[in-house]
Amino acid sequence: MQKRVLLVEDEPSIRQSIRINLEIEELEVVETDRGDVALQYVQEQPFDLIILDIMLPEMDGYTICQSIRLEQEHVPIIFVTAKDTSADRIQGLRLGADDYLTKPFHLEELLLRVRNLLKRSRVPLDTQSSVYHFGENQINFVTYEAKGHHGNFTLTKKEVQLMKLLIDHKDRVVSRQQMLQLVWGYDVFPSTRTIDNFILALRKYFEEDPKNPKFIRSVRGVGYKFVNG
Ligand code: CA
Repeated sequence: MQKRVLLVEDEPSIRQSIRINLEIEELEVVETDRGDVALQYVQEQPFDLIILDIMLPEMDGYTICQSIRLEQEHVPIIFVTAKDTSADRIQGLRLGADDYLTKPFHLEELLLRVRNLLKRSRVPLDTQSSVYHFGENQINFVTYEAKGHHGNFTLTKKEVQLMKLLIDHKDRVVSRQQMLQLVWGYDVFPSTRTIDNFILALRKYFEEDPKNPKFIRSVRGVGYKFVNG
């Protein structure tokens, strides 16, 4: 089966040159210059690899990467960017990218990295390894099945994404703004009140005493923080 690559890059000449070279390697390439379109593609189609520019209009590559990782842990992501300080690199890798290439780069180097990432045997989706435990609770991030103190139930996609975002940032504050950007995206802007209502629901599922939450804590004026033990 032909491997599929999503290419997100807003400079037409670079995009074209990467695309042509990937196609010579017999890869199927889907390209876009927009972050919101990229996220839509990722939701609708399977990809074996994502090449992501960081400096993009509207939504930057870091945000796109974080958003992809809320849904897909395993798809390899390579950042291709003109930002080349080590702080940028660390930021990119911390957000779950697998590789990082600084512009200008040799196409051959990009192709080598692409081949390497595609060659790594893909972990077959093991639904058990996607289960996160906290207290008496558990969440399966693949099947959306959950267990709370009222028993077993199924979470909605947004609830799963919100929990994953909080758990990925364990012990750190996630602002309402981050939640809006990463879970709701840029198209639909719900009010911050919507987020608070989601949090109330999540606390009812997972907190023994929702009024005194142990796991999903409020940080006044900012957002929420997940704490586990
Ligand atoms: Ca760019």
